[in-house]
Amino acid sequence: MRGMLVERLGAPDVMELRELPVPEPGQGHVRVKVEAVGINFADALAVAGEYLTRTRVPYTPGMEFAGTVDAVGEGVSGVQSGARVACLGGTGALAEYAVVPAAGIIPVPQSLSAAQAAAFPVSYFTAYHALRTLGQATDGQWVLVQAAAGALGTASIQLAKAMSLQVVAMASTEEKLDMARRLGADVTVLQDDPERVQKVKEATGGRGAALVLEVVGGARFQESLSMTATRGRVIVIGNASRETALLHPAELMKRNLTVTGLWLTSMMSDLEATREAAQELTQLIASGQVTPQVGPTYALADSARAFQDLLDRKTTGKVIIEP
Ligand code: NDP
Repeated sequence: MRGMLVERLGAPDVMELRELPVPEPGQGHVRVKVEAVGINFADALAVAGEYLTRTRVPYTPGMEFAGTVDAVGEGVSGVQSGARVACLGGTGALAEYAVVPAAGIIPVPQSLSAAQAAAFPVSYFTAYHALRTLGQATDGQWVLVQAAAGALGTASIQLAKAMSLQVVAMASTEEKLDMARRLGADVTVLQDDPERVQKVKEATGGRGAALVLEVVGGARFQESLSMTATRGRVIVIGNASRETALLHPAELMKRNLTVTGLWLTSMMSDLEATREAAQELTQLIASGQVTPQVGPTYALADSARAFQDLLDRKTTGKVIIEP
């Protein structure tokens, strides 16, 4: 089968299209014929060797995808060959076939296309845990969504609105802010607007947002704290700037702020939280209240370009690769 292989870490163009063996599903695993792969910022960080876990080479990138079950390993029950599924695994999706643990199969409504299903697991589960499980947002509260036109950003806006929250969306261009407004953002602010902090404060009645979904890091982290309401929460989800952030504990104390980290991989081991998230997300998708936003779509051979466009902030919605 054709698949992308990374033999040394670095910029996206270290990935090469190769002829690889079709993987066998071992005990408790399922093999899926891949139809669409969702590309995450984390995939690009992993190829660069800058992700939260060590990247071991050689490997095939790709953690979330959708397709059709092709073979079922021993000890797997309740998964039929031919079933259409979305999957969340560790690696290996950028290929014609991928193997995942049966536990990595995510229920998705059959109404979704393969690309929509591949755009769903990482962004929507992360947004759910940020808003609900860790953010504990309640009706009418303000949430600040950064990188609002991206995969996680678009998921966060839609979910926040479905949860009756008010949204301030930030992004780097007017086109991206247009997209955020179309998805329901109440107020939009350009990421580099010199008056951005005041604008967020004004929009939120002078208080700041009760919840800030922080994905940029570096100097922006300090700013996120100043745009958070007293007793509000900052959920640290990403560090797209790849810069170190300064945290002055006194600032947290003075305004009773809470800063919480969120990594989806470790949240997935909380089976109760995952079950609750899956139930609510599946209902919201089935009722059409939220729709995974499919972004630009690339062929497998153009994987490096897809990753680079994501890193260069050229994309909106979820970047998709079709093997
Ligand atoms: P996106 O589709 O959101 O693309 C990344 C976006 O980040 C860009 O379009 C850009 O939007 C914004 N950005 C801000 N600063 C930079 C920068 N210096 N370099 C590049 N991009 C920048 O990607 P994802 O939805 O995959 O991820 C968004 C963030 O959420 C990432 O930081 C990612 O690591 C994190 N994440 C974390 C998860 C977790 O479990 N903790 C799970 C999912 C995502 P703009 O141009 O508008 O600024």
